Amino acid sequence: MNRTGRTQLMESQRNGTASAILRTILRDGPVGRKQLAAATGSSFTTITRSVRDLLERGALVERDAVRSPAAAGRPVLPLDLPGPEVLVVGTHLHPQRTTVGAFTLRGERIHDAARPAGGSSTEARARDAALLTREVIDELEGSAVVGIGVATPWAEDRLASLGPRPWDIGYDVMTEAMRSTTGLPVWVDSNVRALAVEHHWWAGMRGNVLTILVGRSIGLAQMREEELVWSGRGTGGIVSHIQVPGSEQRCGCGQVGCIAATCTDDALLERAIATGALPPGSRQQDLLETAPEDADQLTALRAGRVRELGLVLPPLIDLVDPDLTILRGTFGTPEEIEECLALIRGRYREIVGRDVRIEHRAPTAGGNWARASAALAVHGYVNAPLLGEDLEVESATPSP
Ligand SMILES: [Zn+2]
Repeated sequence: MNRTGRTQLMESQRNGTASAILRTILRDGPVGRKQLAAATGSSFTTITRSVRDLLERGALVERDAVRSPAAAGRPVLPLDLPGPEVLVVGTHLHPQRTTVGAFTLRGERIHDAARPAGGSSTEARARDAALLTREVIDELEGSAVVGIGVATPWAEDRLASLGPRPWDIGYDVMTEAMRSTTGLPVWVDSNVRALAVEHHWWAGMRGNVLTILVGRSIGLAQMREEELVWSGRGTGGIVSHIQVPGSEQRCGCGQVGCIAATCTDDALLERAIATGALPPGSRQQDLLETAPEDADQLTALRAGRVRELGLVLPPLIDLVDPDLTILRGTFGTPEEIEECLALIRGRYREIVGRDVRIEHRAPTAGGNWARASAALAVHGYVNAPLLGEDLEVESATPSP
């Protein structure tokens, strides 16, 4: 038993009920207590007790009563998530910059900041990102921050052909830097998993949704109902060493034709520089160059990748068997991306015998990575809303 007199089982049930309430409201909008009991399968008494607790903590608010003309009896007091009083913060580590944003639990942007990436080691980079995050939090006077989400392009540094770089920060290093600098709950995960939870909670993509991100690496993440499938920690959903049909590119892992060596931004960039299509020191975004002088070679590289994705992605989609697949990443012109979708649809029909639902989503304007990062915090928070309280209790208890 802890000092509140509750057993571990009681704490876990308390967290479970609070989580079900917050998830229901985040998903369906404001609801009354009776509807909450029906939606969560808990008793009315349990819901009433948990709601009282959450109202006291400021985790829920009561909106104005609505009286349904058809229904007799007491008016319903809908319960809702707070507005700008309760926020989540998202921090994104891009190779060239760090962006931080503060958002309401429904994903409305309240504040943001960006600055060039600092630090020449992974520890210094993590510290730099944590300090910028704390600066943003310090400016949010009058709002409570319930957690921080951090999305990093870090996927796997064990076999990266270029070796780990300062932005390739391991999750533990990042979590520790962020926690010790802010004292808040922290969720660190990969870019693609951040996008997957953002699609679910803040873009209304419900059901079984597969997100595929084509960027420096290619990663998969699946939201099935409200569960982020596969483990965190950068292990599940990595397809780097799956072979692309027909590819003869040599991979650092010893195989030939791996996705990592064939159709990632890193692979294309290496090839573009080696063949003189781009000058040394070029960056990811230079691959999208369409100016006439470099256009031919780069267009050919991009077209090759579109064909490769059209071959390697359909069996992976079939393996996961989602209701909807969302392709992310700006890996070509709009026409090239459209061509890629057409190839995927065609190949899927050939090998699976039915149609696949797949769409591409372009990034929204301005700092959208901070929002996806913050979605990790919303996902973490609504799954364990009393976590912050437990941290407080722990830190307030003097060590023996
Ligand atoms: Zn490989």
